[in-house]
Amino acid sequence: MSAGIAGIVVRDVHKSYDGSTEALAGVDFEAPDGSLTSLIGPSGCGKTTLLKLIAGLLEPGSGEILVNDRPVTGPGHDRALVFQDFALLPWATVLRNVGYGLELRGVGRTDRETVAHRLIERVGLAGFEHRYPHELSGGMKQRVGLARALAVEAPILLMDEPFSQVDEQTRRKFQEDLRDLLSGERRTVLFVTHSIEEAVYLSDRIVLLSPRPGRVTHIIDTVHDRSMDPDRIRRDSAYIDTVDRIWQVLREYLA
Ligand code: ADP
Repeated sequence: MSAGIAGIVVRDVHKSYDGSTEALAGVDFEAPDGSLTSLIGPSGCGKTTLLKLIAGLLEPGSGEILVNDRPVTGPGHDRALVFQDFALLPWATVLRNVGYGLELRGVGRTDRETVAHRLIERVGLAGFEHRYPHELSGGMKQRVGLARALAVEAPILLMDEPFSQVDEQTRRKFQEDLRDLLSGERRTVLFVTHSIEEAVYLSDRIVLLSPRPGRVTHIIDTVHDRSMDPDRIRRDSAYIDTVDRIWQVLREYLA
């Protein structure tokens, strides 16, 4: 077993589908413990595949994936996966949906409802506990999904374009909320996004992947001051320079 780096370590990971479609061709990166790392790259470069490999839902063809120093051999309670559509249960209330991850882990009703109430409050959905998903807006559903992921207290959060279904203003608000929700918690977050601005705003580290088959071409550690107000961060020269640098790379991929 490899030595002692907590967080997520991906080493020389290859993955092909059906023995022919090569999705990943030797991916290497580290997502340090307690950090938020974004994966960004052209459509089809293998971002979702990578997340599923780390979640233990797929097996790599070769290479090694460590989560908090342990090789990934399948899904585990140390990792929570947040999907694009949040996969809410249509027949269950907000309260049940938020507690559902805990329910799957065998946590009793009183305990999970206590946790669910706290998280519902934190994501701004107090008063909606007994509503069903079809009674909620897209943005509210995404909050339910986020609350569910936070409720299980997995040290690793794997998020696949969680804010892709909402309009631009809501998305910005969610980005700010996510940073707030994560502050003071020691979680390692791996975040897939198509948005350069979102990646730079949210991330401590950004991993850029080449067009398929995916390989890591750049690793960028952001330097803007997170204690600044969100609107100031978005106008900060360190933030703007990083957005521009990533755009220059991605533009070449689109050429
Ligand atoms: P991204 O998330 O970056 O858009 P994906 O990981 O979804 O990329 O896909 C990477 C490549 O693998 C794509 O070419 C896609 O068509 C292919 N792929 C993904 N899932 C499957 C699958 N289940 N079977 C066959 N090919 C797949």
